[in-house]
Amino acid sequence: MTKPFENTREFALEMDKNDPLRAYRDQFNYPRVKGKQVIYFTGNSLGLQPKIAGDYVNEIMQDWANLAVEGHFYAEKPWWDYHERLAKPLAKVVGASPGEVTVMNTLTVNLHLLMVSFYRPTKHRFKILCEEKAFPSDQYMLKSQVKYHGLDPENAIVEVRKREGEHFWRTGDILSKIEELGEELALVLMGGVNYYNGQVLDMAAITTTAKSQGAVVGWDLAHAAGNVPLQLSEWGVDFAAWCSYKYMNSGPGSASGVFINKKYHGLKEIPRFEGWWGTKKETRFLMQPEFDPIPTADAWQLSNPPVLAVAPYLAALQLFEEAGMPALLAKQKLLTSYLEFILKEIDKQVESTFEIITPEDRGCQLSVFLHGEGREIFEYLMQNGVIVDWREPNVIRLAPVPFYCSYDDMFRFGQILKAGILSK
Ligand SMILES: *Cc1c(COP(=O)(O)O)cnc(C)c1O
Repeated sequence: MTKPFENTREFALEMDKNDPLRAYRDQFNYPRVKGKQVIYFTGNSLGLQPKIAGDYVNEIMQDWANLAVEGHFYAEKPWWDYHERLAKPLAKVVGASPGEVTVMNTLTVNLHLLMVSFYRPTKHRFKILCEEKAFPSDQYMLKSQVKYHGLDPENAIVEVRKREGEHFWRTGDILSKIEELGEELALVLMGGVNYYNGQVLDMAAITTTAKSQGAVVGWDLAHAAGNVPLQLSEWGVDFAAWCSYKYMNSGPGSASGVFINKKYHGLKEIPRFEGWWGTKKETRFLMQPEFDPIPTADAWQLSNPPVLAVAPYLAALQLFEEAGMPALLAKQKLLTSYLEFILKEIDKQVESTFEIITPEDRGCQLSVFLHGEGREIFEYLMQNGVIVDWREPNVIRLAPVPFYCSYDDMFRFGQILKAGILSK
């Protein structure tokens, strides 16, 4: 067990000394403000760059320069099946078997493609359940899909609301809604970790309950992949997708990950938008008219992989593979708790009050109302080397990512926050 937390530099440095993941800090590149390495809290938006990412990208640039078209088959990591290298380490991150995951396109595109297979409304079963105020792209995606099927979003999309005065969803409310919709419920599609309040939904319970009503279950794991424990296979999830540039540290707009439960593999008749990278490798280049699906999630791939976008993802996964999710999750819990402690300590020392709206079920994000503060505090933090995310009217989202944030970062953040508030 760890000692009770203390809001001192000494204590924070001691925690860092005992941190089994401390060496990973040096494996990332940090922005600098006024010549100093920043305290980075926005890994929930864009993860830092692993130093090895450049090597992985350069390798492809070199192969392209030296081999040109021959790189498809004769590069050291041939491009035609480059993406397959990601399946094993990625499957570990999301709790799947390697055949159930693939990497392709970008997140919103993948959600649309998955809806083709997994949202099959009928006259009686056509409703979609999601959380209120889902990430805007997910809302646009759902509405446009519903309209594409000739249905009215007002009627077909049902949102689970938070209770009056509360900042989180109650699992019981979600489960009751599922049961209430019963045979009308075609699909549950929610964010496994909410981007705004950082809440981790009870994905296992929601999946089980929705399945018992005969619905299909998909998860948007943009804020969950690489951040919280996931057991997609074991939970019986039908499909999921996530971007790789948040907690997965794979760079802006990098390729998205997809999970498709193995019970859907190898089906020729499943509705699906298809392309040549989904047909079996052995016969692909015979250029035959018949689509013969790869018996894995790869059947959903359309195009040859965007290798330059996938390369940083492979680099990042190498770090996940080395560090292991259990160690990352253990540090994430402790580090986030330490940040919570620091916020509460500083709260006692200043006039403004901090209200943490992230519930107990959380990953590495604390969303905090800074009552009594305005945008100036955000500017102050940014100018003093603390990169945070600001949402009007006065919410900051802080994600102390275990790979590259330290306990000392949390302590120093507290001091800078306090100085910023007192300097007004
Ligand atoms: C970040 C995020 C997205 C972003 O979608 P892109 O297609 O990658 O631009 C979508 N949904 C959620 C829930 C997100 O958190």
